[in-house]
Amino acid sequence: MTSKSRSPKFYLLSIFVLMLFLHAYKTDIYTDENKIIESKVDSLLALMTLDEKIGQMTQVRHFADLGSDNEIATKFIGSVIHTQGPNPGENALGWQNRFKALQEKALSTRLGIPLLFAVDAVHGQNTFQGATIFPHNVGLGATQNTSLVKEIAQITALEVQATGFNWTFSPCVAIPYNEKWGRVYEAFSENTELTSKMAKASIEGLQGNLKDGHTVMATAKHFIGDGATDFGIEGGNTSLTMKEVSEKLLPPYKTAVKAKVGAIMVSFNSLSGISMHSHKELINDTLKKSMGFDGIVLTDWKGYSRFGKNEVINAGVDMVMAVDGDLDVFQSGLKNAIATDSVSIHRINDAVKRILRQKFRLGLFKNPFPNASFISKIGNQNHRDKARQAVRESLVLLKNKNHILPLNKNFKKIVVVGEHANNAGLQSGGWTMAWQGTRENYKGATTILDGIKKISKAEIVYDKDATGNHVDADVAIIVVGETPYAEMFGDINDENIENKLTLSESHQKYIKKYSEKGIKTVVVLISGRALVTTNQINDSDAFVAAWLPGSEGDGIAEVLFGDYDFKGKLPHSWPASEADFKGKYGVNFWDTSKKPLFDFGYGLNYKKEKVIKSNHK
Ligand code: BGC
Repeated sequence: MTSKSRSPKFYLLSIFVLMLFLHAYKTDIYTDENKIIESKVDSLLALMTLDEKIGQMTQVRHFADLGSDNEIATKFIGSVIHTQGPNPGENALGWQNRFKALQEKALSTRLGIPLLFAVDAVHGQNTFQGATIFPHNVGLGATQNTSLVKEIAQITALEVQATGFNWTFSPCVAIPYNEKWGRVYEAFSENTELTSKMAKASIEGLQGNLKDGHTVMATAKHFIGDGATDFGIEGGNTSLTMKEVSEKLLPPYKTAVKAKVGAIMVSFNSLSGISMHSHKELINDTLKKSMGFDGIVLTDWKGYSRFGKNEVINAGVDMVMAVDGDLDVFQSGLKNAIATDSVSIHRINDAVKRILRQKFRLGLFKNPFPNASFISKIGNQNHRDKARQAVRESLVLLKNKNHILPLNKNFKKIVVVGEHANNAGLQSGGWTMAWQGTRENYKGATTILDGIKKISKAEIVYDKDATGNHVDADVAIIVVGETPYAEMFGDINDENIENKLTLSESHQKYIKKYSEKGIKTVVVLISGRALVTTNQINDSDAFVAAWLPGSEGDGIAEVLFGDYDFKGKLPHSWPASEADFKGKYGVNFWDTSKKPLFDFGYGLNYKKEKVIKSNHK
C-alpha cells in the first residue's frame, strides 16, 4: 500500500479551518449567553412598576438613609453602599450577616430583585480591620507591573466578597496633572498609556469572569477630568478642549469598556463650565453610544441634588447615590419628572436595563448571599506576601550617592527617625480604615521600623522626632512625609494650609539635623504625590520615594538592605521647585515648558541599569 503524504500547506489550511470553526463556536456561545441575559432583562423589566424601576435606580447607605431596614423593600432599593460610618458588624461574619439580612428584605419583594452592595475598596478592602492593604494606586503605577496589579485586584475582590460586598468603587483612572489635587494617589499615573494598562489589569482582576462568586463588579471613576481641574481643586472646573479630553483622558475609559467594566462613576468636576453630572454629550453620546458602554453609569455622592437633579438622569446617569437626605428627594423628584414628561420612560427603562443586566452578569439572582468560606482568607499570608512584593516594586530610588544603598546588614548601630517610621496609619494614607485614614497602627499591619529590625543585625535606635544625639550611628534612616488625607481635604490651596507642596518644616529639620551631624542619611518619603524636595535630596545620601505602601511596611527594608533590587519608576514627573506649579501645574497644565527635576519613568537601581537622564544636577 502506498501512503500519500500531505503537503504542509494542507495541514496549515486544516488548522486554519479548525480555528475558524472554534472561533465561530466560541462567539456563538458568548452571544448565546448575552442573548439569554438580554431576554431575562427584558422579561423582568416588562413586569416592573414605575416605583420598582425608580427603586432599582436608587443607592443608599446601609444606615442613616433608611428609616428602617424595611424600606429596602418598600422603596425597592437597588443598591446599598458602605463607606465611612458605623461598621456593618463586629467581625466579617457580622458584616456578611448584616448584608444578608438586607438582601433578604430585597428578595422578599414581589419581584425579588437582589441588591448590589458597594464599597470603596481602593487599595484592598480598606474599610475592614485585618484586611490586606495594598499600596495606593500611585505606588502600583510605579511598579509598571500589570500582572502584579491583576493579582492584587483578584485578592482585593476576594477580601471584598469575604466582607459581604459584590461591588467596588475602584479603580480610579484619573490622569492627575497637578500635585495640588488631593487625590493624586488614588490614580496610577500622569501618563495616559500607563494608566490604561493598569486600568485593564485592575478591572480584569477585580471582575474575573464575574459569575464564579470570587470576584466583584468594578467601577472606573471619575468620568471625566477629575484630576485635571484648574489649580487641582477637587470638583473644580477642567479647562480642556474636547480634543484634549479625547487624547489624554478618554483612553483609560476606552480600555475599561473593552475590559467590560460593570460601572462608571461620574465626576464632581465640570468641564469647561458644564457639570460632568449633566454632560449629556460625554455620558450619553460618547461613553454610551460611541464607546458602546452597556453597564451602569452612577452619580458620585449626592450627585442628584447637587448637580441639576433630573438633568443628571437625562444626561445618561442610571443609578443615583441617594445619600445624606437625598433618598426621597430623588425618588419623588424623578417620579414627578416622569409625570411631567421632563424625563422619558424610555430613559428610565434604559437605566433599569443596565442595572438588571449587571445583576444577571454577576450571577446575583442565583447567588445573592455572601460566601462564609471566604472569611478565613482575609489578610492571609499569601495575600500579605503579594502586598509586600508590591511595596518592594513600588519604591523609586531617586538618589544613591556613593552607593550607600544597599545598607550593610552588619552595621553596628542604625538610627531610625520620624513618626512615619513606626506608624502603619501614617504610611497608608487616606481611605485606610476610615475615609480620611488613620494616624494609628491598625490590625495586621507592619511598620517600616518593624522591617528594619527584622532584617538588620545592628542595634536599632528609634528617634521619633530627631531630638536624639546618636552621632555614633552608621546610618540614619529618616522617614518623612505627608499625613493622611482624602478628597478635598488633601487639596493644596489657601483653605488647606496644613497641606503643602513641600515637606513640613519639622520634617525638613529631621534631615538637616542628621546630615549636619555628618551621619550618612537615607531618606524614605511617604507621600501620595511628588513633593518639592530638591533641598532634601541634595542634603541626603540616598532618597527613596515610597508612596503610600499600606499594611506591609516591612517590605521597604528588604530593598534598602539589598535582599531585592529597586524596580520602581516614577509614575509622575517630579517638580523641581514650587515655582513650577505656576506653569505646568496652574490653569494651563498643558504647558510642558518647565523641566521637572526627574522625568516620568525615572528610577535608579543596584544593577546600574541604564536609566533615563536626570535633570537633577
Ligand atoms: C468620592 C468617590 C467615592 C464616593 C463613595 C465620593 O465622595 O468622590 O470616589 O466612591 O464618595 O464613597
